[in-house]
Amino acid sequence: MSNVFHRSALTTPPMATRALGQQITDVAGRSYLDASGGAAVSCIGHGDPRVVAAVSKQIAQLDYAHNGAFTSQPAEELATHICNAAGLGMTRVYFVGSGSEAVEAAIKMARQCQIERGQAGRHIVISRRQSYHGNTLGALARSGSETRRAPYAPMLPDRTQVMPCFYYRYAEPGETPEAFGRRAADTLEAEILRLGPENVAAFLVETVVGATSGAVTPVPGYFTRIREICDRYGVLLICDEVMCGVHRTGPFLACAAEGIAPDIVTLAKGLGGGYLPIGAVVCRPEVHDSFAQGSGTFTHGHTYMAHPVVCAAALAVQQVIVEDGLAARVVEQGAALEAALRGRLGQYPHVGDIRGRGLLWAVELVADPETSAPFDPKLGISARIGAEAKARGLLVYPGSGTIDGWQGDHVLLAPAYSIGTEDLEKIADVLATSIEVVTRRTADVVS
Ligand code: PLP
Repeated sequence: MSNVFHRSALTTPPMATRALGQQITDVAGRSYLDASGGAAVSCIGHGDPRVVAAVSKQIAQLDYAHNGAFTSQPAEELATHICNAAGLGMTRVYFVGSGSEAVEAAIKMARQCQIERGQAGRHIVISRRQSYHGNTLGALARSGSETRRAPYAPMLPDRTQVMPCFYYRYAEPGETPEAFGRRAADTLEAEILRLGPENVAAFLVETVVGATSGAVTPVPGYFTRIREICDRYGVLLICDEVMCGVHRTGPFLACAAEGIAPDIVTLAKGLGGGYLPIGAVVCRPEVHDSFAQGSGTFTHGHTYMAHPVVCAAALAVQQVIVEDGLAARVVEQGAALEAALRGRLGQYPHVGDIRGRGLLWAVELVADPETSAPFDPKLGISARIGAEAKARGLLVYPGSGTIDGWQGDHVLLAPAYSIGTEDLEKIADVLATSIEVVTRRTADVVS
């Protein structure tokens, strides 16, 4: 019997014993090709000796010193690396332990920044439907992920959420991407006016949507309009790049591809690449200045933030990305993954959409190819495809509620930036077989 409180109270997952490169091996000796980096986390592959060496060195030299009393060399170097890589005028980094903590810190930073600027009434953080920002209560309150929210709904503040920028599902027939983007962005302006701009602190948005709808990229012009609206009403723009940042979709910050600079950005997964848990809130100088020229202190903090060993691990991961030219590989291998997916799955009737950017891709499934109607959620299609792929030695990230939080299924892929072309072809192949097997079985059951 296991004493671990696992995610499922009914089963204990297989025990992983080794991870190297693109493979994870379990105690029974079964090997799995890691096609999603867990939840889009592993970005340089597993078991890189350069990270192991950096962690060993740091832990021997300085394990822990409270962040209120001391800074550390790894934290300083990592913050400088992040600001240089991010560009867009970013100058300060607040280190935390996870993506959810980064979002919590970002929304509190935005709120306190407004107070420091003499705008104490501004306390509301608007977000979007079909988004995921984390499982802690503050982040969950802003998330649009319905199944994750449902049990806790009475504990969450009233939601203020606007339309997602999800062209495949939300565009009107004949609507151009540009017109759709304008319509989607304008729902933010309407919501700010409804709430009263003097009450709105920030808008929180995933630059590229990850887990909830599956690798949904914004349409051209959407973020330009969002930036204009935020500026017009004094609302801070927070881009949640916990999943899509750190080169996952190409540039270090995904928002660079949209031609805008947010006030605050959150990062996590690819920052530590899975070696040790880390998240970060990155901000522009004006945000930090408001604290420096105001109360002087951000009223927040955690025991383990800016942990020297964790920062050393993340710094080593970022150095591997630079040394091995992995940012350029994201673009090359992203194109190879797209080609493999379209080649293998493009004509398959139950595949409604193949979308993504860089090395963040999703395949959305449909029950009816004519109408794009989703499968009945009770069938649990994406979870079954995930299980089938795992049985065939492939780890993917299945998601449901793709369309509105309840309906729709997708499978997310986010392999390490170091993945080879043969492995990408294997991913497309095994995923295609898993989709074919599960949808055929389902058709047999349904008919
Ligand atoms: N924000 C986004 C965009 C995410 O994708 C996630 C996790 O998937 C989170 C926040 C929460 O991160 P964590 O699971 O590290 O708390």
